[in-house]
Amino acid sequence: MSGYRPVPREEIAALLRAGQLTETAIAEQTGVSRPTVAKIRKTLGLPAPRLGHAPRYATVEDAFRDHAHPTAGGHVEWTGVRTGCDAPMVRYRSDSVSAYRVAFQLHHGRNPQGIVYPTCEQPGCVAGAHLADTPMRQATARAAQPVRRSGPPGVPRSEIIALLREGHSNRYIGRTLRTNPLRVARIRAELGLPAIVQTVLPLEEAWRARTRPADGGHLEWTGSRREGLPVLTHAGEAYTAYRVAFGLVHDREPVGRIRPGCGFPRCVAPSHLEDRVIRQTLTTQLTSIFGAAA
Ligand SMILES: [Zn+2]
Ligand SMILES: [Zn+2]
Repeated sequence: MSGYRPVPREEIAALLRAGQLTETAIAEQTGVSRPTVAKIRKTLGLPAPRLGHAPRYATVEDAFRDHAHPTAGGHVEWTGVRTGCDAPMVRYRSDSVSAYRVAFQLHHGRNPQGIVYPTCEQPGCVAGAHLADTPMRQATARAAQPVRRSGPPGVPRSEIIALLREGHSNRYIGRTLRTNPLRVARIRAELGLPAIVQTVLPLEEAWRARTRPADGGHLEWTGSRREGLPVLTHAGEAYTAYRVAFGLVHDREPVGRIRPGCGFPRCVAPSHLEDRVIRQTLTTQLTSIFGAAA
C-alpha cells in the first residue's frame, strides 16, 4: 500500500547542509529523484556536494561497527550520521544506507522486508535483536490479538453482562437473549459474579404457563382477558400479558401502549410486541430505507 508521499524537503535540506552525502545518495535515502535534490539544493543556494569519498572502510559492516556502541540493557547507541529525521545512517564509500537495515542483516542473516525500526524503548537503538521489519511486526500483532470468543453471532457480550449485573440467572439470560446459558455462565465466571440459584422468575413462570405456541412463531394467550386484553393476576397484582412479555426481552420499561406488530390477533410473543418507542424507530428506519431511495 504505497500511497502518495510528500517530498521530505526538510530532511533533504538537512542532509545537503551536512554536506556529507552526494545528491545521488540523498536522493536514494529520501526516496526522491536526483533532480529533485538538485533543485532543492539550488533553491537553498548550497554548493554542489563533493563527488564521493575515498573508501574508509573495507565493508559496510565495518563502517557500521565503527559507529555502533553497545550500552546497558543490550541496546546499541549510534554515533554515526543521522538524517534530518534522526534515522541512523551508515556512510560507506559515496553511499549511505540505513544503520537499522545493516544491523538487521548482521543479526538475522537476511535482508529485512519493508521498513525496519527498533521495537525497544531506546530511541534510535541499532541493536540487531531489538529491530523488527514489517513481517515481524505483523506476526507480533497477530500473536497479541485476543482469542476470538465463540458464541452465537448477534448477541453482544455487553448485553449479557448488562443482564448479569441486574442479577438474572444464566437460564433466564440465555432464554431472553436467545444465547447459550453456558456462554452466560462462562462470562459470569470471567467477571467473578456470584451464581443465581433461582432459575425462573415466578411471574415469568406464571405468564409462560398461560401461553401456547401458534404457527408462524406466534404465541397465543390461553389466560384470562379483560376488555379484550390478555391479562394475568400474580401474587395479588394484575398485569397485562403484553407488559410481562415485553419485560422478557427488553431492559427498559415500555412506553405507551404495547401491541403485537405481527398481525396475529393478541399475539403475546415477546419479540412480536411493540411499544411506542419501537413503532417510532421502525417508522424512522422504513422512511430512511424507502424514503431515501424514492
Ligand atoms: Zn534497544
Ligand atoms: Zn406474533
